[in-house]
Amino acid sequence: MVRSGHSAPPDRASPAGRARQYARPSVQVFERIGGEGYEQVVFCQEGPSGLRAVIAVHSTRLGPALGGARFRPYGSEDEAVEDVLRLARQMTYKSAVAGLDLGGGKAVILGDPAELRSEALLRAFGRFVDSLGGRYLTAEDVGTTQADMDLLRSVTPFVTGVSRAMGGSGDPSLATAHGVQRAMEAAAAHLWGGPALAGRHVVVSGAGKVGAALAGRLAAAGARVTVSDVDPDRADRVAAACAGEVVDPAKAHAVECDVFSPCALGGVLTATSIDELRCAAVVGSANNQLADPSGPDRLAEAGVTYVPDYVASAGGVVNIAEELRGYDPARAAAAVDRIFDTTTAVLAAAEAAGETTVAAADRLAERRLATGPGRGA
Ligand code: NAD
Repeated sequence: MVRSGHSAPPDRASPAGRARQYARPSVQVFERIGGEGYEQVVFCQEGPSGLRAVIAVHSTRLGPALGGARFRPYGSEDEAVEDVLRLARQMTYKSAVAGLDLGGGKAVILGDPAELRSEALLRAFGRFVDSLGGRYLTAEDVGTTQADMDLLRSVTPFVTGVSRAMGGSGDPSLATAHGVQRAMEAAAAHLWGGPALAGRHVVVSGAGKVGAALAGRLAAAGARVTVSDVDPDRADRVAAACAGEVVDPAKAHAVECDVFSPCALGGVLTATSIDELRCAAVVGSANNQLADPSGPDRLAEAGVTYVPDYVASAGGVVNIAEELRGYDPARAAAAVDRIFDTTTAVLAAAEAAGETTVAAADRLAERRLATGPGRGA
């Protein structure tokens, strides 16, 4: 840790002076959160259960900051902070562009859920969520389960995605897959003059909860599906269910196809992988698909139509948002359907302005943030 360079003795009587006694942390937290406009970042720790968590509220401009609680063993505390900040900000944009009256937030719980998960730890986390008084609404994410959400509901009302039996909307993955399909249909209409995916070849990379559901939906719509997963059994199972083929995950992005659909981890679109793409469009559920800020321009130069990840993957949060006004599956499905319109608007705005689809989506989201809640996308 580096001490701040004040030569005069600090004025210990004033709050600012007292703050200056402390060394600066390795992550410049206040510069980072202030510069990018985060409203609040809460560090949570509870000794007996071993809970260490961070809750980031990026924006409540459009409504309560909704975003899942991710439970995973991070390499470092800095990595966890970086992840929660990036994901919280993305939730602001995801909800804004989808026309939801919700803000953006996220939580991370540090540690391996297989070792650390306990009722005491989840209850302690729930009390921290509760202490924010509804500014942050939590939900299921990587490493947390629906059973965890049901348990949290006994500690705080500020939890979404609880099971259907408890009046919730259940597993969001099916709605996410539905939304990705609608985004793909909008990309098809933009590229080929009609939304039908019949006869189109789609490579689904990641055959997990979303990827498996998406592969099934695409096959039912008459598309030819190729599947890949680092778990070969899972890839075989999902491919068999949709009469598709299996491809090595390292080569999935380079398969000649109509649509490449990243449904595994983030960071798949690097300078190298973009050069190797042989598809007309990229439309998938994975969060933070772009490895670096040059991605949108590279994709445009390669002639690939990219539906921004936060536009294509909004089905889960759109579905959860319905829970807040009393969950009705038919109304929720109709709301997810509108991802077609959002995607169409983003692609049209990008074309009209001669900008990347990411710049267009950001602009639409920021316009809505400037306008305020209650006015749709
Ligand atoms: P999941 O954990 O169920 O599935 C992910 C799958 O990807 C697993 O089968 C895993 O083996 C596989 N995988 C991991 N690394 C891979 C690689 N390099 N190549 C190919 N396969 C690989 O997760 P999920 O819920 O299906 O979510 C998938 C993605 O979509 C994640 O990025 C998630 O953040 C995002 N997302 C999910 C939802 C949702 O509702 N579940 C909503 C929005 C965004």
